[in-house]
Amino acid sequence: MAPATERRCAVIGAGIAGLAVAVRLAHAGWRVTVFERGPMVGGKMGEMRLNGHRFDMGPTVLTVPHHIDALFTLCGEDPRAHWNYRQLDPGFHYRFEDGTVVRTWADPDALADEFAARTGTSRERMLTFLARSREKLEITGRVFLERSLHVPRNYFDRPTLSGLLRLGRIEPLTSMARSNSALLHAPKAVAILNQFASYNGANPYQAPATLNLISYYELALGSYHAEGGMYSVARALEALARRQGVEFRFGTLVERILVRDGRACGVQADGTAERFDAVVSNADVLRTWRMLLKDQRAPRTSLRQPRSGSVVLFHWGMGRSFPELGVHNMFMSQDARREYDSIFRDRTVHDDPSVYVHISSKMNPQDAPAGHENWFVMVSAPNNSGQDWDGLVERTRERVLAKLSRMLGTELAPAIACARVTDPRGIEALTDSPQGAIYGNSVDGRFASLLRHPNFTRRIDNLFFCGGSVHPGASIPLCLYSARITADLVRERYRA
Ligand SMILES: Cc1cc2nc3c(=O)[nH]c(=O)nc-3n(C[C@H](O)[C@H](O)[C@H](O)COP(=O)(O)OP(=O)(O)OC[C@H]3O[C@@H](n4cnc5c(N)ncnc54)[C@H](O)[C@@H]3O)c2cc1C
Repeated sequence: MAPATERRCAVIGAGIAGLAVAVRLAHAGWRVTVFERGPMVGGKMGEMRLNGHRFDMGPTVLTVPHHIDALFTLCGEDPRAHWNYRQLDPGFHYRFEDGTVVRTWADPDALADEFAARTGTSRERMLTFLARSREKLEITGRVFLERSLHVPRNYFDRPTLSGLLRLGRIEPLTSMARSNSALLHAPKAVAILNQFASYNGANPYQAPATLNLISYYELALGSYHAEGGMYSVARALEALARRQGVEFRFGTLVERILVRDGRACGVQADGTAERFDAVVSNADVLRTWRMLLKDQRAPRTSLRQPRSGSVVLFHWGMGRSFPELGVHNMFMSQDARREYDSIFRDRTVHDDPSVYVHISSKMNPQDAPAGHENWFVMVSAPNNSGQDWDGLVERTRERVLAKLSRMLGTELAPAIACARVTDPRGIEALTDSPQGAIYGNSVDGRFASLLRHPNFTRRIDNLFFCGGSVHPGASIPLCLYSARITADLVRERYRA
């Protein structure tokens, strides 16, 4: 076995988890090479420029930024020298058709007061919601999010056993919608809290109430804005990785993971085979097995799960500013239940969708020319199963424009100075995520989160997986957990 300083690891993909695993392994002494088929780091966390406007392509909501800082401190660096963020207060502005605006506040008492005043729930019910969500996060964090579910010894320490004994408290058998409705007794509050399921491409009428922990990240731990936009995180992590000695090969498609005698021994990229001691795939796990491990027997359960939902994304450079809007704005559907039915049952985009509008130029004026704003307008959509996307996108664009114009009391179309649209086909093409699913497999089933692919495979030694399509799941915080779990597994594999 090669000594640690000579051990080489290939990371396939420069998504957020690929970058984080590269930093962790390089810091532990490995020689790491990241292969990225695209021209830059970030994967789904991409960036685009259009007529003087800068746009993020993927994540816009930043939570638990100290998880990103942890990578810099691990390497003995001051994170503030390399990237920065600010807490948003208010965080989100939820707008309803009857003119109600509900804002989320960093202080839990102010948040509970706001929900009580504007949605008709009570302050106590809202505080109970937060307390229950915190409990869900505490229980799942130890048992599930922060470690591999698939290593038996992880179940035998005291905090995990105590978490397992309290598993009923995470409400795995009740849907989010049912739990929220039973507690809050206020349709507007329920609609706001249910829509956190969409952060995982899930349906709150199917997904377990366990997913209420997602809202805890944002509502209680805070919503943050990355200075320079979300892509500044990807850029800062690339620079950190380079300082740790990581080599990047862009525009380099890995075609095959080389396996000999049941052991991953390298990769073939651009027709050339190269030896590595370990291989970490940050590519979608379905693609990894189907394209890169074609001649290997793939595991069944985790690959047969349905895929998560997707989005239609409009990037609009607006030729004027809208002082009434914040950084994060959600224009709520009048019938959320029907919206979820449209997406998950009818596999189409709802006629009256909930519309998320993110405007980073409110915080980073340099993201748009003077007097302009950069609107990131996102609508939930089913994943791609051959729908007529050209027709659907045009219809959605018209409906979204009509809805926002109505709710803002001004005609929006004339204000759009430049525009680009991305539908699930485009997301698939950009990030190689099958069907344009943005969160890997669906987490709608009661135990679907437990069926995610592990961070390793018993079928092939030295092969590991990280990122949003594997354990513990999608989103920046979970991808960072995934990278930490995977880096630990790689190091443990070679320990002693
Ligand atoms: C529109 C949108 C909005 C989102 N909003 C949020 C949000 O607000 N907050 C949040 O926390 N999360 C959000 N997410 C989810 C979050 O972006 C993802 O969970 C996360 O970025 C996934 O990262 P990853 O590490 O799994 O890698 P990915 O981003 O999936 O990157 C994988 C990389 O692997 C590369 N690759 C694949 N195959 C190969 C190959 N054979 N050879 C070489 N390279 C290969 C791809 O090109 C890609 O760069 C959003 C996602 C999208 C798309």
